[in-house]
Amino acid sequence: MTITDTHTHLYSEAFEEDRDAMIKRAIDNNVTRFFIPAIDSTYTKAMLQLESDYPENVFLMMGLHPTHVKDNYKGELKHVEEMLSKRIFYAIGEIGIDLYWDKSTLTIQKDAFKHQIHLAKQYQLPIVIHCREAFDEIFEVLESEKSDALFGIFHCFTGTLEQANKAISYNMKLGIGGVSTFKNGKIDQFLNQIDLKHVVLETDAPYLAPKPFRGKRNESSYIVKVLEKLSEIYETPKEIIAEITTQNSKDIFKV
Ligand SMILES: [Zn+2]
Repeated sequence: MTITDTHTHLYSEAFEEDRDAMIKRAIDNNVTRFFIPAIDSTYTKAMLQLESDYPENVFLMMGLHPTHVKDNYKGELKHVEEMLSKRIFYAIGEIGIDLYWDKSTLTIQKDAFKHQIHLAKQYQLPIVIHCREAFDEIFEVLESEKSDALFGIFHCFTGTLEQANKAISYNMKLGIGGVSTFKNGKIDQFLNQIDLKHVVLETDAPYLAPKPFRGKRNESSYIVKVLEKLSEIYETPKEIIAEITTQNSKDIFKV
């Protein structure tokens, strides 16, 4: 069985003390493919180091996270462009709009999001979307940018069934993680109405740990708890869920 974590911040400071042991725990649990979203230029060095330490397992994305879109964002986008021109990345992410932390930056968040969608189209790469309290704003951008060349993952999907179908209509897969195991997470109630071909697994480690680790540091090995939950929701063996969602990740990232 191969399990793919499509969204994990393995370079995070949260893993400073035990990064190798934590990655080994994941690999020992059949979690052998890690897709690594970018945040901003301050993490690039650590991401490249991670890739050189685990060349078989680690696949990097490049992008500017919406909560890191600040006054200097044009310079940050230059860094994204420069990195993309130099070497291979597997997606543009994570990008999007976050109105939970700061509503005042909406205009520049939108600008950065659109700009990075254009880069994704130019490099024929998928996008990985971060959406927090911003479904309407994100859908507005996707509507204006929609095309066969635009595809990717709606990461940490926490919306309604209607929003799920809308995301899928824009060629997005749904990234399902720890929230699916929460009592008040809601998505567990309708997920079985979404075909598994639209679903990928993720942890968003070190954030959003699944039950029974909720509130603690998350790590990629805990994705097994998400797999178990989906096995329940879809009444399908874990092995099959792992196989389908790993295949979905290969279709998106082309690796
Ligand atoms: Zn993330």
